[in-house]
Amino acid sequence: MVNRALDVVLLGPPGAGKGTQAKRLASAFELLHISTGDLLRDEVARGSALGEEAKAFMNRGELVPDEVVGRMLYAHLHSQSAAGGCVFDGYPRTTEQAALLDGLLAELGRRVDAALYLDVADDEVLRRLAGRRSCATCGAVDQTDGDRCSSCGGELVEREDDAPDVVRERLAVYRRKTEPLLSLFRDRGLLRDVNGVGSRDDVFASLREAARSVRR
Ligand code: AMP
Repeated sequence: MVNRALDVVLLGPPGAGKGTQAKRLASAFELLHISTGDLLRDEVARGSALGEEAKAFMNRGELVPDEVVGRMLYAHLHSQSAAGGCVFDGYPRTTEQAALLDGLLAELGRRVDAALYLDVADDEVLRRLAGRRSCATCGAVDQTDGDRCSSCGGELVEREDDAPDVVRERLAVYRRKTEPLLSLFRDRGLLRDVNGVGSRDDVFASLREAARSVRR
């Protein structure tokens, strides 16, 4: 039997580990991993018009306007093979984006199947983001003390928006604009709470279980 597409949204505060876990989830279920943060950083690095528009918002820890991110997501969804389904990482972040995603998926005859919420408390988030470094080559978030990425050997760099005052702003924006999505998805019966504290493997096992319970 051919599985139907599975479309999963990954929610959680900055520093919850969404990026790392989304990649693993996508590979375990053969889904396309779509991180709007990665796509935006790529636009900025390439110096595209969209990147230029987004850069100042990102550096301040604010959200890039819905219309700009929506345009980029639309283009990406239509340029990649998303037929098997997607893990949306960092999207939606506002109720308007949630409505746009519903529309984009409806065009493909699909819908959000589940919203997995990686639950991590504020003090833990702040601790994790202090000094977080990621690989300039493969993007993996690395927690080793060395200078090189433990996955690919690339150079480890600190993200500009992981500076303490920007982190505080990102958390505040998360509370104000993104947290309301938890009740939105809960009311639709789609929210699955996953404890985001623990080893990466344990958190992944819980996430995989939650995603399995959706894919019947
Ligand atoms: P992330 O890597 O998901 O933490 O995203 C880094 C930054 O990119 C955020 O702080 C925002 O400035 C911007 N960004 C990423 N995804 C979105 C989105 N869905 N809507 C608006 N801004 C976004």
